[in-house]
Amino acid sequence: MHRWRTIVEPFRIHSVEPIRMTTVEEREAALEAAGYNLFNLHADDVMIDLLTDSGTGAMSRDQWAAVQHGDESYAGSPSWYVFLDAVRELFPFEHVIPTHQGRAAEKILFSVLGGPGKIVPNNTHFDTTRANVEFSGAEAVDLVIPEGRDPSSTHPFKGNMDLQALERLLGEHRGAVPVVFMTITNNSGGGQPVSLENLRAVRAVCDAHRMPLFLDACRFAENAWFIKAREAGQGDRSVPEIVREIASLADGMTMSAKKDGLANIGGWLAMNDGALAEQCRNILILTEGFVTYGGLAGRDLEAIAQGLREVVSEDYLRYRIRSTAYLGEALDAAGVPLVKPFGGHAIYLDARALLPHVAPLEYPGQSLSIALYREGGIRGCEIGTVMFGRHPDGTETPAAMDLVRLAIPRRTYTQSHIDYVIEVVAWVAERAAQLRGVRIVEQSPVLRHFTARFAPL
Ligand SMILES: *Cc1c(COP(=O)(O)O)cnc(C)c1O
Repeated sequence: MHRWRTIVEPFRIHSVEPIRMTTVEEREAALEAAGYNLFNLHADDVMIDLLTDSGTGAMSRDQWAAVQHGDESYAGSPSWYVFLDAVRELFPFEHVIPTHQGRAAEKILFSVLGGPGKIVPNNTHFDTTRANVEFSGAEAVDLVIPEGRDPSSTHPFKGNMDLQALERLLGEHRGAVPVVFMTITNNSGGGQPVSLENLRAVRAVCDAHRMPLFLDACRFAENAWFIKAREAGQGDRSVPEIVREIASLADGMTMSAKKDGLANIGGWLAMNDGALAEQCRNILILTEGFVTYGGLAGRDLEAIAQGLREVVSEDYLRYRIRSTAYLGEALDAAGVPLVKPFGGHAIYLDARALLPHVAPLEYPGQSLSIALYREGGIRGCEIGTVMFGRHPDGTETPAAMDLVRLAIPRRTYTQSHIDYVIEVVAWVAERAAQLRGVRIVEQSPVLRHFTARFAPL
C-alpha cells in the first residue's frame, strides 16, 4: 500500500451534491452584497467551501443507516444509550451531558465555573471558548509554547502548553483559576497537536495545584494520530488506546461532534465531578433540553455514535492527515508562506508574511480571503486581527498572527478539487503585491468576524 504516492480516498462516492460554477463578475457582485464578509455569502455562490470543517463533512452510509435507528422518545431514548456507550468507549467520564454543539457545552460550563475575577488558562482558546469565558466576566489566557506563536517553527507539537507559564499563573493567582483547559488539536494556533508527554506534564501541574483539567477535544482523533505518528514510543499503540489515555489525564471535556464526531450537528460536556454535573444539567434543562437529548434529535445521537466508531479508523486518519498535508506541500512548493508543520484539519496561509504591505489593522487575512473567493470561488476563513483584534473594552490591537485558514471538510472533496485550490492560491499569491487592505464599516461587540461589514481601501 505505502509504496504508492497517490492518496486513495478510503471511500467511494455514494450520493453527489452539485457544485454551481460561477464567474469572477458574479463573485464580485456577491462580495459587494455580502459587505466583503465571506460569512454573508449564499453558499450556492461558493465553489469550494473551505470556510470550516465544522459540521460540513460527508456522513457515511452507516451513519445514514444509523439515522434511521433514531428513537425520538423525549426521555431515556435508546438512541441516548447508544450515544452514551460510544462516547464512554473513548472518554470514560462519569457524567456525559449532550448539547446541540460545542459552544453550548462551553456556555453551560463557564456559566458555572466562570465569572468576574476568574482566570481560565488554555493552550489557545478557540474563538467561541474565549467568547464564552469572557461573556461570564472571566479572563481567558493563552499559554501555548513560544513555538506555537511562530508560523515558521517546525516543532512537532506546537499545540503544547507552556508549563512554566502555567506554573507561574497558578502560583500567582491561586483561587482565581477554576479550571485548566487544553485544546486538542490547537485550532486557533494552526490545528497543531499536543503531545501525550505535555498532557501528562500539565496533569502533574494541575495535581500539584489541585486544579481540574478539561479538554476541548473537538479534534481528538487527529491529535491522537499525530501522537501515534510523531511521538516516541507511541507508534505501536492503537488510536482508541491513545484517546483513552488522553481522556484518563483529564477531569472532563467539551466537545463539538461537528469535528471528529463526523456528524453535522452535536456536542457534549463530560466530567467526573458529580456536583458540577448537577449544576450543568440544571442549566442544560433551561437552555438545551432534557438530560438524555440536550438539544439533539435521537437520530443525531445515533449519527454521532457511529461517527465516533469511524473517526478512530487508521485508514481514515491516514487519508485525512495525508490529504491535508498534500495541499500544504504543494502550496509550500509554490512559495506560499504557511504555518508549519501542517495541522490536521486545515492549511493556514500566513497572510501577514504574504502581504507585508498591508498593516495588521488593515486586515491582510481578510484581504487575502476576499481575493481567493473573487478569483476562484474558494471560501477560506480569516483567523487573525478581524477575529481576535478587538478587546472587551472596545480597543483594538493586532492579533498574534494574521492567517487565512483553508479548512478541509471531512470526506467531502476529492484530490482534483484540492488541485484546483492549489492552482488558485498559487495564482493569487504571485499577485499578492497588488492586494489592498480593507476597513471595517460595521461590527458587533463580540465575535465580530461573523457579521462585520468591510470596504476595500
Ligand atoms: C468548533 C470548535 C468549538 C465550538 O464548537 P461548535 O460546535 O462550533 O459550537 C470549540 N472549540 C474548538 C477547538 C473548536 O474547533
